[in-house]
Amino acid sequence: MKNKKKLIVISGPSGVGKGAIIKSLLNNVKTLGLAVSATTRPQRAGELDGNDYYFYSQANFDEAVKNGAFIEWCHVHGNRYGTLKAEIDRLNNLSKIGLVEIDTEGANKIKQSFPEALRIFIAPPTLAILEERLKKRKTESWEEIEKRVNHAKVELNEIEHYDYVIINDTILDSSKEIEKIIKKSFNL
Ligand code: 5GP
Repeated sequence: MKNKKKLIVISGPSGVGKGAIIKSLLNNVKTLGLAVSATTRPQRAGELDGNDYYFYSQANFDEAVKNGAFIEWCHVHGNRYGTLKAEIDRLNNLSKIGLVEIDTEGANKIKQSFPEALRIFIAPPTLAILEERLKKRKTESWEEIEKRVNHAKVELNEIEHYDYVIINDTILDSSKEIEKIIKKSFNL
């Protein structure tokens, strides 16, 4: 069954600045609400369970898959991540537009149940700049950074499946541009 709920899908390579852009969007567009994903990835310093992600053990994730708790789930960088149905319902009950931050594979899967979702891809100006940003973030090892830059190449091949592609030069400009797109698309 097709879903008529309002949904925004944001994708882009790890380190591109999605987190900062999404934070700005949530502050400036009050009808948006973040759908918090579940992941088996270890919690990073400063991250809060239930705020950044729901941090699941492998067993909890298996259980959630078995119970049909996910709209989609994927393997990304060796860990599992999934969009929880309950999160979208929670936001819809609050009359909010759900915003999900997911990888390109997950975005393609969501397209089947939410064909009318607004899909936005955030791209780095160049891959070299992306690598620099990942190094500065100091949250991943060299090996992880290499993995993420390689995965970025794969993700950049998927941009044709998105309604808009934003090149993130500065967080401020990108946030403003996306804000305009959202307001226009949902008549806010
Ligand atoms: P990070 O580990 O840096 O927080 O996220 C790694 C990647 O996982 C990001 O590219 C992000 O888009 C993706 N991701 C986060 N949540 C989900 C989800 O619920 N589903 C899918 N398919 N990907 C996700």
